[in-house]
Amino acid sequence: MKLLEYEAKAILKAFSIPVPASSIVNSKTTKIEIPVVLKSQVPVGGRGKVGGVRLIKKADDMQAIKDMLSLPIKGHTPNVLLAEEPLSIKREYYLSLIIDRSDSTIELMAHKEGGIEVESQSNFRRWPLGEDRNRNHKVAKMLTEYFGLPEQLSVITELINNLYKCFVASDATLLEINPLILTTTGNIVAGDCKMTLDDAAKFRHPEWNFEDTPANTNFVTLDPEGSVATIANGAGLAMATVDGVADAGLSPANFLDIGGGANEASVLQAFKQIMEYPNISAIVINIFAGITRCDEVAKAIISAKSHIPELPKLYIRLAGTNYEAADALLSRAGIPLLPSLESCLHSIKEDH
Ligand code: GDP
Ligand code: MN
Repeated sequence: MKLLEYEAKAILKAFSIPVPASSIVNSKTTKIEIPVVLKSQVPVGGRGKVGGVRLIKKADDMQAIKDMLSLPIKGHTPNVLLAEEPLSIKREYYLSLIIDRSDSTIELMAHKEGGIEVESQSNFRRWPLGEDRNRNHKVAKMLTEYFGLPEQLSVITELINNLYKCFVASDATLLEINPLILTTTGNIVAGDCKMTLDDAAKFRHPEWNFEDTPANTNFVTLDPEGSVATIANGAGLAMATVDGVADAGLSPANFLDIGGGANEASVLQAFKQIMEYPNISAIVINIFAGITRCDEVAKAIISAKSHIPELPKLYIRLAGTNYEAADALLSRAGIPLLPSLESCLHSIKEDH
């Protein structure tokens, strides 16, 4: 899950990481303190360059709120704005925590030229962090030297320790602060924050209540422009189906494991999700039914045919529990079955 800036900053604040004083603004807001920095709460970066971050000085604040709430940023229109106390910026730095999978560590990445141009920078510094406070103190020392802020050693040490705690306790996979701001009065403040949380850790976090929701890992988009959609049951067969489509020189749009408890309603839902892709010309259905019942899948296919008139051509292979019942239902409806995945793929290629 990708958090919005205000959601991420609320987490930072709970871990004693300094953020600007702020409030949330929506279309019902009637008054805010000025001067103020208004920030569009959309799940994309680079807002500063396209009108998503505005410093409001005069009392045209209500009009600015209205304008920003209706201004789409890279296709996203915000539900709320973050209204922050303006900072007097002396310098901007870049700081992030990421997972280094090859090393099984959490790494600190830094650049002394932070802010909106950071993507064009190279030579990011990287240091592994750890539970050991001495380790993090050493990193803080190297970081303050690199930033040219030796006088901030104790502040930066505490910041790194808190960021590390925050990252682990939140089951984050990314925590990025850009810019990390040094104010003219010598304070270090998180000016912006991007945070991604691990969907798989949802069961540990009853408090997770964000605008974004955990992804359905049974349905994964592989290529929204792809031309062949797949429906299979069991993760192994679903992967093999995707591989088969790709090996046949076709472009799979999605992975879908309808699972053991699949019924007519859940399979119909999957068809609807598939219909959101623009380029689908074939749907491969590959079911080896154990707990899943072929007749339930057949009913869903027939129902999808009648509910979705523009449904692309189906290439269906069914085997296992209640196959005979499914075969009878489908042949009555005039929907043919194929004997194997290979024959499905072969037919798709012949038809195109
Ligand atoms: P982004 O463009 O979506 O990454 O949004 P940021 O929050 O990073 O803001 C972009 C830029 O706005 C920053 O790099 C600052 O240079 C600038 N900015 C100007 N005044 C302020 C302020 O008071 N607070 C913050 N956070 N940024 C400011
Ligand atoms: Mn930023």
